[in-house]
Amino acid sequence: MKHHDVIIIGAGAAGLMCAATAGYRGRDVLVLDNAKQAGRKILISGGGRCNFTNQKVEPHQFICGNPHFVKSALARYRSSDFIELVERHGIEYHERDHGQLFCNDSAKDIVTMLMTECEWAGVKIKLRTEILSVNKVDNGFLLTTSNGELSCQSLVVATGGLSMPKLGATPYGYKLAEQFGLTVLPTSAGLVPFTWHAEQKARFEALSGIAVPATITAKDGTQFSEALLFTHRGLSGPAVLQISNYWQAGEAISINLLPGEDALEKIELALKNHPKQSLRNTLSHWLPKRLVEALFDEAQLDKALNQLGHGEREQLAQSLNDWSIIMNGTEGYRTAEVTLGGVDTNELSSKTMEANNVPGLYFVGEVMDVSGWLGGFNFQWAWASGVAAGLAV
Ligand SMILES: Cc1cc2nc3c(=O)[nH]c(=O)nc-3n(C[C@H](O)[C@H](O)[C@H](O)COP(=O)(O)OP(=O)(O)OC[C@H]3O[C@@H](n4cnc5c(N)ncnc54)[C@H](O)[C@@H]3O)c2cc1C
Repeated sequence: MKHHDVIIIGAGAAGLMCAATAGYRGRDVLVLDNAKQAGRKILISGGGRCNFTNQKVEPHQFICGNPHFVKSALARYRSSDFIELVERHGIEYHERDHGQLFCNDSAKDIVTMLMTECEWAGVKIKLRTEILSVNKVDNGFLLTTSNGELSCQSLVVATGGLSMPKLGATPYGYKLAEQFGLTVLPTSAGLVPFTWHAEQKARFEALSGIAVPATITAKDGTQFSEALLFTHRGLSGPAVLQISNYWQAGEAISINLLPGEDALEKIELALKNHPKQSLRNTLSHWLPKRLVEALFDEAQLDKALNQLGHGEREQLAQSLNDWSIIMNGTEGYRTAEVTLGGVDTNELSSKTMEANNVPGLYFVGEVMDVSGWLGGFNFQWAWASGVAAGLAV
């Protein structure tokens, strides 16, 4: 039976980063993955250009049962460290809104970079390998795989979340955590579009393709100001994906369709300047006409501004600044970018990612209960947690 210092299950973002870090320390590292290709999620990320990190990464941009958990790893491996790595490999990149960094050419550059780092660090990678069982032995772990038995001193679980099952996502990491007595917090789809109820679909489906700037607020007060996109199935766009991380089924979200503006003041001003203008024409200067027509009654839209009572104007303003809507649900793991929940971080060391009660067992990346905002934060967590464990295994 072949023995390795470190076996890492999962050749994704966190697993490869962890492997290279441990390999450079002189550890004998083997990475196992059941897929036929390493880093498949990286390849499709960021629309094929991989939003690999963000210029400004702060702990509050991560959702975790223990909000302090991410601080140590993020402080020790910063986005500037990853940018330096990307630059050292000659990968050209650019910055988009909100400090998001993308490859100029292709996400493939990031996978090639990680594979090169692993090669330089002497890491072995075995793909198309199923893990059949894992057992704790005296000084490590014994693995039975589709390619035979293996043993290791440290075992790192880097199997990612449940999003995009088509790409080979499995709940294996959660099962392993439970096998070793760790708590797995309930999982759900995050960074995911919302879907309409049937009656909403009938009313709003025709708006598919319309995008407007908006501020969306979740029930807990979390707010994002970015584009809102109407789709056939429901609502999407960056603002919606962000807020989905803070949304529980059945909760209303509040959408401000005139972010930064006081709708009542605008209506009162329009009334003063153009009292005979119809509500339809007034609102169509501020929002796409089709959206205006879907939001308000025909009869109301045909009224002149001076035919609207004060209460009616207040109600209209409320609908524009605080459109409260209860969505049916989300598109689920099929299109989600991340998985909320996962291995409870209260049972892991924030410094090394090692399980408190199972010496030698580590969890890195998305498999744990850490999910970032849209904008490169999930990869930064994969890099930072991978490095933290890589320095300890
Ligand atoms: C469409 C899409 C776009 C995204 N775009 C971005 C982006 O631009 N920026 C960003 O920051 N984040 C993005 N994300 C999120 C990001 O991809 C993940 O957060 C990140 O890949 C998590 O890294 P990980 O190493 O934990 O898991 P993964 O990268 O998912 O790697 C997990 C690995 O484990 C392997 N595995 C799973 N089960 C088993 C098993 N039973 N046995 C063996 N191996 C197994 C898988 O094959 C995979 O190789 C995107 C996600 C999606 C779905």
